[in-house]
Amino acid sequence: MEYENMDLDEIGPRVTVREAGNANVDFTLNNVSLAFANSLRRTMLSEIPTMAIDLVEINGNTSVLPDEFIAHRLGLIPLNSKSIEDVLYTRDCDCDQYCEHCSVTLSLRAKCTGDDIMRVYARDLVVAEPRPNEWVGKPVISDSAGLGVVICKLRKGQEVDFKCVAKKGIAKEHAKWAPTSAIGFEYDPWNKLRHLDYWYEEDPAKEWPKSKNAEWEEPPQEDQPFDYNATASQFYYSIESVGNLEPDSIVQQGIKVLQQKLATVLQDLSDGGDTNTNGDMNDAGGYDNGPRSPDAGGDHGYTTPYLNGGATSAWGVDRHPTVRHLTVNLDGEVECNL
Ligand SMILES: [Zn+2]
Repeated sequence: MEYENMDLDEIGPRVTVREAGNANVDFTLNNVSLAFANSLRRTMLSEIPTMAIDLVEINGNTSVLPDEFIAHRLGLIPLNSKSIEDVLYTRDCDCDQYCEHCSVTLSLRAKCTGDDIMRVYARDLVVAEPRPNEWVGKPVISDSAGLGVVICKLRKGQEVDFKCVAKKGIAKEHAKWAPTSAIGFEYDPWNKLRHLDYWYEEDPAKEWPKSKNAEWEEPPQEDQPFDYNATASQFYYSIESVGNLEPDSIVQQGIKVLQQKLATVLQDLSDGGDTNTNGDMNDAGGYDNGPRSPDAGGDHGYTTPYLNGGATSAWGVDRHPTVRHLTVNLDGEVECNL
């Protein structure tokens, strides 16, 4: 087996890709600490920037679903986030609310005129140009029929008319920005390190089947003494993309984000502990250079009823897409009722 040929003098991380597809990658990572391996897992889960609908202007909705219900569904549609470094965070942009440099606008207009129930799909979202690049903001459609997820259903005479604004953000703030649906993570499949204490009725070996990763490591010898100095060094990852980023890109971005976070720590330490180097009052824990979701509320253009004075922390806010009800008067004035 492969580990028997491993050069014991080898230092530095080593990656072995076991399986790779369009939406998944399965690999092992060697020669890193458990803390590092877990940091990478957590970073890939929650801190890789992607695009997601963050603001929905409802111009008309006579469907049976309430505005907020549809806005929530729209927010969860995966949007292509390739080369997202071309997109600015809205808080870093010079515009008042959103613009072509920090957002992608998608519109959705549908009316049912026939007698049959009409389904409105993700493919019916029309992406406006110009965009920061040719990929970002396009709804991810991976089914063979090319339809995408169902947003709502309409019966005869019902219609929907929305303008959606997608922004760059991270899953730490809302799961709609998550690049992965799941990350499988395991180490020490034979439990030689005794990090697990199995609950069992009669025989733990029978009641706890081994994972497929057990084939990648030597089983413990009978009556082998416990090694108090042993540490975990081989980690098994299984990453599944929701379609907005390619799986290899998720791993690369995860490493990049982790590097940025560590660089911020090093910089702060060398600056004498001043974490707020640029005077930005919105700096949430030294994230000046790292990824962050668009600032909710505050001075970045929009607020929700939940954020006007009630927010306790930057991460504890309601991040469903903000719904605005627009009324257009005959003389062209637009009223906005938040
Ligand atoms: Zn902008």
